[in-house]
Amino acid sequence: MKRNMAQEKNRTRILTGLRANNDLTIGNYLGALLPMVDMAKQKAGDYDINLFVPDLHSFTTPIDHTQLQEQIMQNLRVFVAAGLPIEHENVFVYRQSYIPAHSELTWILDCFTGFGEMNRMTQFKDKSAKLNEDRVSIGLFNYPVLMAADILLYNASYVPVGDDQTQHLEFTRDIAERMNSRFGELFTVPRAVPEQHKFFGKDQGLRIKDLQDPTKKMSKSDETGKGVIFMSDTPEAAAKKVMSAATDSLGKIAFDPQQQPGIANLLQIMALLSGRTHAEVVTEWEGRESYGEFKKAVAEVVSAFLKDFQAKLAAVDDAEIMRKLESSEAAMRDVANATLLRAQKAVGLRA
Ligand code: ATP
Ligand code: MG
Repeated sequence: MKRNMAQEKNRTRILTGLRANNDLTIGNYLGALLPMVDMAKQKAGDYDINLFVPDLHSFTTPIDHTQLQEQIMQNLRVFVAAGLPIEHENVFVYRQSYIPAHSELTWILDCFTGFGEMNRMTQFKDKSAKLNEDRVSIGLFNYPVLMAADILLYNASYVPVGDDQTQHLEFTRDIAERMNSRFGELFTVPRAVPEQHKFFGKDQGLRIKDLQDPTKKMSKSDETGKGVIFMSDTPEAAAKKVMSAATDSLGKIAFDPQQQPGIANLLQIMALLSGRTHAEVVTEWEGRESYGEFKKAVAEVVSAFLKDFQAKLAAVDDAEIMRKLESSEAAMRDVANATLLRAQKAVGLRA
């Protein structure tokens, strides 16, 4: 059944994206993909769900551009393998750069955004601190404005955000309100962060830690990748990374993220990837003294998980993904262009 425009307008929209700058990690899988897939399954009946590939965001930090196309496809396959209901008519899966309104609205919003406002963004400070000065791009600086355009173009109300994105969502609300108070009702202001957390009802705080340095989170763009388990790692390579994970010298297993961050991280990984409860896993291992035996058990869980997941991945149909992208991009171009036109008229670019 084709939905009419009136219906389209009345449905509240949920929007989320995942940057395709590198292979995904088990941190991304557990902290972002699975919650997104679960959310899509639960909410697609009542909401419109935009799940987009922020390909324009992919190279705010340096990447290997020859890999980008394949990376985008691979991430989409990972979503489908993780259970994304790609066949659902209320789920829209699209590539940002295929909808030029993202870039166009970004420029307009740029001109109403203060330099100081962007300069306060902690993610920019963190990311730029890790790069040589000449590799810190204006794109990285400007990325929250593009993110605001990503959200505002589709009148999205709900955007699941982790702690690292909270400030950007707040900026999106600020710029939307600023434009609305200056030009009249241009944009739907997305809900405030506490409402987002209430709506998604998820533990947004999950952070899988780097295996080599368990005081920092696992990140897909980590320099060496030694402490990172990628979804594409062979089960054997992943098992080796687990076996060489940093632990501590206390010599007794306990779930204590402060004193024993390495062990706590491994306990968490074990529970989440085996589908057992946290309490069950902790009870089984608490008080035991052989870190070697424990790591071996974690390594087995990780490699069994990857083996199973990679089999699902191999069965994903690329043609189905392409059909979904093309139909969603056509539909979303209309929604985005309508918002862009309102903004263009407001600033005097269109009659
Ligand atoms: P990058 O190094 O490029 O920043 P990243 O691994 O930090 O990569 P992001 O693209 O920043 O990934 O984030 C993608 C999603 O994955 C976000 O929703 C983020 O909250 C989630 N995420 C990232 N790292 C982890 C982690 N270690 N544990 C749980 N969730 C994570
Ligand atoms: Mg990150």
